[in-house]
Amino acid sequence: MNLNIRGNNKMIVMKFGGSSVANAERIKHVAEIIKMNLDEEPVIVVSAMGKTTDNLLAAADAALKGKPNIDAIKELHFQACKDLGISKKEVEDLIQELSQLLVGIVLIKEVSLRTKDYLISFGERLSVRVLSAYLDKIGISSKYHDAFDIGFITDSNFTNAGILDETYKNIDNKLGKLKDNYSYTPVITGFIAKDKDGNITTLGRGGSDLTASVIGTALEAKEVQVWKDVDGILTTDPRIVENTKSLEAVSFEEAAELAYFGAKVLHPRSMLPAMKKNIPVRVKNSYNPKHPGTKIVAKLEDEDTLLKAITIKKNITLVDIVSTRMLGQYGFLAKVFDIFNKERISVDMVATSEVSVSLTLDNGNGLSDLREKLEEIANVNIKKGKTIISLIGNVHHSSEILNKACGVLKNNNINVQMISQGASKVNIGFIVDDDEAEICVKELHKSFFEGTEKFKKISGSSS
Ligand code: ADP
Ligand code: ASP
Ligand code: MG
Repeated sequence: MNLNIRGNNKMIVMKFGGSSVANAERIKHVAEIIKMNLDEEPVIVVSAMGKTTDNLLAAADAALKGKPNIDAIKELHFQACKDLGISKKEVEDLIQELSQLLVGIVLIKEVSLRTKDYLISFGERLSVRVLSAYLDKIGISSKYHDAFDIGFITDSNFTNAGILDETYKNIDNKLGKLKDNYSYTPVITGFIAKDKDGNITTLGRGGSDLTASVIGTALEAKEVQVWKDVDGILTTDPRIVENTKSLEAVSFEEAAELAYFGAKVLHPRSMLPAMKKNIPVRVKNSYNPKHPGTKIVAKLEDEDTLLKAITIKKNITLVDIVSTRMLGQYGFLAKVFDIFNKERISVDMVATSEVSVSLTLDNGNGLSDLREKLEEIANVNIKKGKTIISLIGNVHHSSEILNKACGVLKNNNINVQMISQGASKVNIGFIVDDDEAEICVKELHKSFFEGTEKFKKISGSSS
């Protein structure tokens, strides 16, 4: 009798990012990790190899200047096929299609967002073919799928497309049968999908995390594992601070805030599907598979941690809007946000007083219409080159966090231009100038984490 019934699902989703599949050696290593977890009936999601997405974008830029060049991409994939001892036929066919696309770009001297998505889709389409063929070769029966062939449908917001709800049912229809009969290991492209008209779309940079979370949710997986090159979610960006430690567990809410406010480790929208169905997510290190990584769950037991992590989001724009009318005029904020709504500009952080509002925008380009409309009701000052530093943690202790943070900022003569505590209750954010951001993060990290007994114990025992 088959006891592998729904609701008692043992299936996991394992997503491997670009650095985990950067070359043949890394792919062999990933195949070993998959092999060790075959009992858990993994569904594999994979990103483009190494820096392929960046290289594809660079190839388009070069093509616009009349010099198409895909040598690096070709060499990487052909060499991988050779080193892994697999046929390069399918890779060759795709490389051929890619070459033709670049010739087209040279001719028309233009890359629309739609063409850009078609172009960068080649990275993931290539990598699934390589990994799947290698799994097959070492005796793990495997098939690859381009995500649109298992039902990933999005809107037509090219380069940052939104997943349509029907995707979940489609995936279950296509892959759900593996839960009863795990007859092969599917290897699925991260990052890409199609819109209703059949155009290839992408989910935004880093979007393979989202692909994994959508598949995990659709199949009600036991766990979604995102395998990276770090021991999980770290206390801050390891490219800025050397002495970070990995977090044992964070809540969905904390992970989502971290991602949204700049921690590159997760795609900003990737937590939402898993959060809705309460599917646990784990961030793991393919370079250090024994490390438990970071578990992301709905609710954490009461913790004594003051702060979980510090994130940094550079290059944002601060808009100060001061009402030209008298104090006490009602409807001012409503008018301001109505303008942002009509201009379809989304706002990250907000701080208000009765007559003024300061807010931050991700993208500071093309704001002349916005400025014009706002100036009908207010004085407007738009300042570029700012950074949001977010303190993510136990905001029940917000006074203690603020007190400590302000001390650090004062001691380092850093001028804070706005402070905001999100309604989410896990995030205190403040704005500083871009060129003060790194020193600020280093000093805050030192003060909140380094030197504490707990920190020494944990960072000493990880890699
Ligand atoms: P992949 O594409 O392989 O899935 P990414 O490169 O997108 O992985 O994300 C992992 C990288 O994110 C790490 O190598 C690290 O440099 C960066 N990073 C930034 N902030 C953090 C953080 N708080 N915790 C962990 N990694 C972080
Ligand atoms: N390859 C894509 C990127 O580089 C998607 C991903 O890696 O998740 O952004
Ligand atoms: Mg990524």
